[in-house]
Amino acid sequence: MKHLPSETVQLLTSGQIITSVSYLVKELVENALDAGAEHVEVVIEKFGQSKVQIVDNGNGIPKCEISQVCKRHHTSKLTHFEDLAQVNSYGFRGEALHSICSIANVEISSRTSNEELGERHIFDHDGNLSSSHPISIVVGTRIIVTDLFTNMPVRKQIFSSPNKCKEEIKQITLILQAYKIAHPITRFTFKHNGQSLLQLPKADDIGSAITLLHGKSVLDCLNHTYVNRDNFSLTGYIPCLGKQTVSRSNSDLSILIINKRPGIVPSLNTFIRKFLIEHLDLPSRMHPIFFLHLDVLPDKIDINVSANKGTFLLHDQVSIIESLKEEWEILYKHKDVGNKTEIVL
Ligand code: ADP
Ligand code: MG
Repeated sequence: MKHLPSETVQLLTSGQIITSVSYLVKELVENALDAGAEHVEVVIEKFGQSKVQIVDNGNGIPKCEISQVCKRHHTSKLTHFEDLAQVNSYGFRGEALHSICSIANVEISSRTSNEELGERHIFDHDGNLSSSHPISIVVGTRIIVTDLFTNMPVRKQIFSSPNKCKEEIKQITLILQAYKIAHPITRFTFKHNGQSLLQLPKADDIGSAITLLHGKSVLDCLNHTYVNRDNFSLTGYIPCLGKQTVSRSNSDLSILIINKRPGIVPSLNTFIRKFLIEHLDLPSRMHPIFFLHLDVLPDKIDINVSANKGTFLLHDQVSIIESLKEEWEILYKHKDVGNKTEIVL
């Protein structure tokens, strides 16, 4: 038995973190949002293999911190494990940039509002800063990732499968749509090989964001819901009786945002789906559409349950489900509606 060389350990563990182009984009978009960006631009080339570029107009990275940002477990967002219960940012592990460096070439350009000029930095595969040059850029950050999975031959094979490549584009679109529902006022754009795939301008609220994503006809088939209790508040849209919007069995387009984080709470998602299916008399294979923001106190949610930070645990889930049942029973009391309209997304 041998101890693995450190560069092998690094590749093995980093490979678990950045498993796909869409996940890479998700991590970088989250960093942009954590930096307070109101505009996030995603540009990829050749399905992300040759280039993934994210430009944001957030706070930028101070020059004194730049040498640390790609070091493993270096984060500006968390100091002690106990602080995790209060963390409001998407990031807290300080792993993403380091992992990306180990599987691709990384260039970061950034400028804060206190700086006259920005700087362009190149990092090596260990996350060390290898060069810095002054450049003229607006306040914010631009991260360019090239040659993705350069040293991971198996993972690189996804780029030779047209179906997998297309699936990644779809996943990136879904991720950006979810963040749009989480942050309606943020402008998101997405381009692939020079072609614009998504343009989501500033929206004032969740309803306007839904209209941007799926059109007014879908919003018109949804009812606004607002439930406020001591331990949570929930706001958003669920289907109207008689005017249902559903997505096909193989793609659920519903979006649940918990404390600004897109994700799932398995028991809550199952409850919402089952409740809506039952009250709307839908076939069980269908996915009734909902777009909901749930807010709970930060110490009532465990965000550190899954590696991809996409599944959460809620401490008060039983009481939250009971309250929603109570409120929504009233909303769906009158079942005898006339002709049904159905939009399938
Ligand atoms: P985490 O997000 O968990 O802190 P990351 O590896 O994703 O870890 O990022 C490391 C650090 O780099 C962040 O804590 C932040 O200080 C800085 N950073 C990364 N991206 C940006 C960005 N777009 N704007 C400002 N700072 C950033
Ligand atoms: Mg991060």
